[in-house]
Amino acid sequence: MINRKLLIEKAFEAQKFCYTPYSNFNVGAALLCDDGEIYQGCNIENAAYTPTNCAERTAFFKAISEGKKDFTAIAVVGNKKGIQQGEGDFCAPCAVCRQVMAEFCDLKTFKVIIAKSTAEYLEYTLEELLPLAFTGKNLD
Ligand SMILES: [Zn+2]
Repeated sequence: MINRKLLIEKAFEAQKFCYTPYSNFNVGAALLCDDGEIYQGCNIENAAYTPTNCAERTAFFKAISEGKKDFTAIAVVGNKKGIQQGEGDFCAPCAVCRQVMAEFCDLKTFKVIIAKSTAEYLEYTLEELLPLAFTGKNLD
């Protein structure tokens, strides 16, 4: 069972820790594990740009580095600095993050919740966001 309101609140909480001196575009993510634990992530930029890490991957890598392997859902919020909750556009995960999700999540059941606020959000399966995903099965 997914507590969407809590997961979105945790994503907004994580957004406060973004390091975004170059884009001023702040993204927060909250990843729900099957055991109920939640891992938060924020985007972390770098002057060399390429080492920048997205909020979603930060949350995944934190969880995986602590032994988690089974995931239920992720909530993602994102906007330019200064935009209030409920304003701005929905912030969907980038293609790189979708690919990382495909490595660890069931395409048909993992949920991606893209929120403007706890009341206004979109919800997709990973398969909807990444059709015909390239996964480890392709390498068999
Ligand atoms: Zn990303």
